[in-house]
Amino acid sequence: MRRFWARRLLLAFLPIALSAPFGPAGAADAPEVNVYSYREPYLIEPLFGDFTEKTGIKVNVIFAEKGLIERMAAEGRNSPADVLLTTDVGRLMQAKNADVGQPVESEILIADIPDAYRDKDRIWWGLTRRARVVYASKERVKQDEITYEELADPKWRGKICIRSGQHVYNVALVASMIAAHGEAWTENWLKGVKANLARKPAGEDRLQVKGVYAGECDLAVGNTYYMGAMLKNEKNPEQKKWAESVKILFPNAKDRGTHVNISGAVVAKYAPHKENAIKLVEFLASDEGQKDYAEVNNEYPVKEGAPASELVQSWGDLKADSISLNEIADLRKKASEIVDKVGFDDGPSS
Ligand code: FE
Repeated sequence: MRRFWARRLLLAFLPIALSAPFGPAGAADAPEVNVYSYREPYLIEPLFGDFTEKTGIKVNVIFAEKGLIERMAAEGRNSPADVLLTTDVGRLMQAKNADVGQPVESEILIADIPDAYRDKDRIWWGLTRRARVVYASKERVKQDEITYEELADPKWRGKICIRSGQHVYNVALVASMIAAHGEAWTENWLKGVKANLARKPAGEDRLQVKGVYAGECDLAVGNTYYMGAMLKNEKNPEQKKWAESVKILFPNAKDRGTHVNISGAVVAKYAPHKENAIKLVEFLASDEGQKDYAEVNNEYPVKEGAPASELVQSWGDLKADSISLNEIADLRKKASEIVDKVGFDDGPSS
């Protein structure tokens, strides 16, 4: 593990290696694999270093915040991409629907990744999990338990901060409510949550926690890894104060469990190095890959028995909703329609 962090540090100073264009195809003597990544290079480069050390396969990464799936689709057969890495089942489904992936028959992946976290058609593979939790003011919120259902309770009137209802994270959360309660109930519930908003939904998850810190709201909805991101943010130490003003409540810990989503991988439809691509995804799903991947991202592994980091464990026990992400994916469209129908993003007053 010490080596792992040493390498992370080293790579932080080698940004050129991360953005260098892929070499000419056909250099068959040097085994390699090309990754298109929506995940930030510093999060994944240390893992790739370990993979290369183990297998001799060099990993080339192209990182972008947007447009990689579109790029793969446009490149078609000429795409150099072997593996796509992204977060959220919504984006994994986007890749599947754009037909840029291919099914993979891997006994290893099937054994390592539980059914709930991999595509039923074997196009996408979940590699880490994040829980969508409630960040509650330490000062103003006395209770230590909560449910998603309760977010619609009038006792929270004017007290909730949350990002856009149409963001993939919230669409999946609403989809999980449909799975638990049906469409009509969920629509009503979402109206209730809307009525409890402190302000118009805007900004990313961390800014909702900032809202709690600033006293604008008592509860913020956000993904778990942002707690780690705020605590360890060297560029913006202010965020540590936001993090320290809240406690994490894992909703529905006493019944169906907390809603989780995944980050994952897709092996590209025209992967020029298909074997190596599968090896890389298998490595990320292995005990070693799982532990390290989850640790750098402050996420939860998908593999049973693989531990979360000490920091992540310190937030409390996660009991994850056992619903399959395949089912969540199928309900996303309905969920998005409901968000629209109740005018969630218009905020509390309209
Ligand atoms: Fe995020």
